[in-house]
Amino acid sequence: MEDSGGQFAPEGTETDPNANAPPHDSAPAGEERSWTWLLLLLALVAVVGLGSAVGRLFYGERSLAVRDFSGEALGTTWTVKVVLPEGISLVLLEAIRDTIQANLDEVNRLMSTWDASSEISRFNSHDSREPFALSPPTLAVLEAARIVGERTGGALDITVGPLVEAWGFGPGAGDPSDAIPPDEETVDSLRVLTGLDRIRIDKSAGTAAKADSEVKVDLSAVAKGYAVDRVTGGLVDLSLADFAVEVGGEVRSVGGKPDGTAWRVGIEAPEPGTRRMHGSVELHDEAVATSGDYRNFYERDGVRYAHVIDPRTGYPVRLTGFSVAVLHNEAMYADAWATALAVLGPEEGLRTAEREELAAVFLVQSETGLRELPTTAWQERNGL
Ligand code: ADP
Ligand code: MG
Repeated sequence: MEDSGGQFAPEGTETDPNANAPPHDSAPAGEERSWTWLLLLLALVAVVGLGSAVGRLFYGERSLAVRDFSGEALGTTWTVKVVLPEGISLVLLEAIRDTIQANLDEVNRLMSTWDASSEISRFNSHDSREPFALSPPTLAVLEAARIVGERTGGALDITVGPLVEAWGFGPGAGDPSDAIPPDEETVDSLRVLTGLDRIRIDKSAGTAAKADSEVKVDLSAVAKGYAVDRVTGGLVDLSLADFAVEVGGEVRSVGGKPDGTAWRVGIEAPEPGTRRMHGSVELHDEAVATSGDYRNFYERDGVRYAHVIDPRTGYPVRLTGFSVAVLHNEAMYADAWATALAVLGPEEGLRTAEREELAAVFLVQSETGLRELPTTAWQERNGL
């Protein structure tokens, strides 16, 4: 997964240059948790709960500051900003960092196609059409992807794995710029493995089965969003009330900044090679995800191929220079919809987003400059 268009732009946040938590060796959650660690967690809940609930009264506005945490997961980077009382101990900061890392490690362990031993990688190499037992989180992500896939006529389709690889993207492939685009015959043969009906999910049995043993699932379009939701849940469980979580450009916020204003997320202009912000959107206990054709692509014979594949043709989306941002309560759905709308493109995508009553905006390069194409729900929010 690559860095996507949505940039976490914490405008006006108080960032403390010394606030980064100490370096951390990613310890797996669970078995190794000692009693000491548990007691620390309880202390954290008490202190942080105080900081967020009555803390403002107790300490006053100036005693709260934004603490930054960051790292790498799921083949991309992550950032978390948390409002905490000033002077919070390093140990407690480390406990927050551990919670974030444990949740990301778990998503990685289940859903990363970049990790050959992950649950989804084992499902992919499961050389059979027999049902395969999957964890509830993986099944939930498969189910969300299926729902968005069905509502978009198969524009979002997690069985694109073999096509993603053939076009030179994804974990199995090398540098996309060295890739040789597949011929029509190869594309046609791989399309047989692609389709919403190529995976059968049985929620009550907790399994998924492939229609063909060669079918391969790629959760890259949804897993980052799921990871954001997962970290959000972990931080809420620690009684944190004001924070923002970003994984690979997908963001979700809870509460606001120390001054009480909403978290804001910058939306990049869809211009290859630049990192210019076009505008920003306020988040109110919700998520925003972006997708586009301008960041991760390669060029051959004057044609630019994006890393987003149109499963209906088997070919990558031809780049025209656009991006789409989608708001949703859950980052998993924001992420899924952003990719689906990117496949559909500005015209069909906008119609679909309108029909689905999504708050979404396309940014489209045109001869007269960058055009904003918002849905009604986005306009009502005074976005950008
Ligand atoms: P990013 O935020 O990095 O732009 P997206 O959320 O848009 O990522 O997902 C793009 C990734 O999803 C691709 O790199 C590929 O692995 C996978 N993918 C590509 N096309 C599709 C598709 N039509 N449906 C589902 N997944 C796709
Ligand atoms: Mg996506």
